[in-house]
Amino acid sequence: GEALAVSARVAPLGSRLVLLLVEDLTEARRIEAVRRDFVANVSHELKTPVGALSLLSEAVMDASDDPEAVERFAGRMQIEATRLTSLVQELIDLSRVQNDDPLEDAEPVRVDELVAEAVDRCRHQAGTKEITMAAGGTADLHVWGNRGQLAAALGNLVENAVNYSPARTRVGIAARKVNAPGGEQIEIAVTDQGIGISDKDKERIFERFYRVDPARSRATGGTGLGLAIVKHVAASHGGEVTVWSAEGQGSTFTLRLPEAGAARDRAHQQPARE
Ligand code: ADP
Repeated sequence: GEALAVSARVAPLGSRLVLLLVEDLTEARRIEAVRRDFVANVSHELKTPVGALSLLSEAVMDASDDPEAVERFAGRMQIEATRLTSLVQELIDLSRVQNDDPLEDAEPVRVDELVAEAVDRCRHQAGTKEITMAAGGTADLHVWGNRGQLAAALGNLVENAVNYSPARTRVGIAARKVNAPGGEQIEIAVTDQGIGISDKDKERIFERFYRVDPARSRATGGTGLGLAIVKHVAASHGGEVTVWSAEGQGSTFTLRLPEAGAARDRAHQQPARE
């Protein structure tokens, strides 16, 4: 109805313009639908731990004369509270990477520092699963971008590698400089020997809140937002993130980002703005 009304109004201007307007309308509707889905998803994701907390607090009250039960319920309340905290933190991270222009305060960022930070973030979890983490090739490499966003992106990839791997396996992080048509780039690959991802799921894992196995993801504290953040950071830096995986064998996530020197040279070649 709406589209027809628009086309009737602009019909004298020619059918090409009508087509453009209708396409615009469709795109606006799509964006609106994505936004509505997102709000619905967030509400659902928030409701789950809050609902659990409410039930558990009732259970604690009912079990007040059974100290062991109280302790058990309290332990589960702590898990739900932690989940809620990490969900809120990831929502803040996501909105930050979507709203802040990363190139506004871009700088050369040392790859070895990014990697050390990401490894540190997962050290405890890797330790309890006896997962070995090894990094190589990072010396003297610099990427161009927003330090905080890049750290969040790489941190998420390494965290996933640890989360979705069985005990006593290896997580490797390798970096190298590659030549690309648009200038030199840095490639950082995170490889695990974990559960892997099917071809069908590979297409969807970068969507917000998409999880292959929600139960498993929740058990590891996953929010389904990590890879959406990585994808956004990569794209806004002029890079990309890709995945290779074989089910039951493992996965490699590769983050490609502009090399610092090349990015600066390119910036200098741009004609000065008036
Ligand atoms: P989550 O918080 O659930 O980890 P992500 O957005 O980081 O959310 O990842 C989305 C989904 O992709 C995960 O739920 C998981 O099923 C899958 N996934 C991500 N990284 C890996 C990996 N290294 N190995 C296997 N599956 C993975």
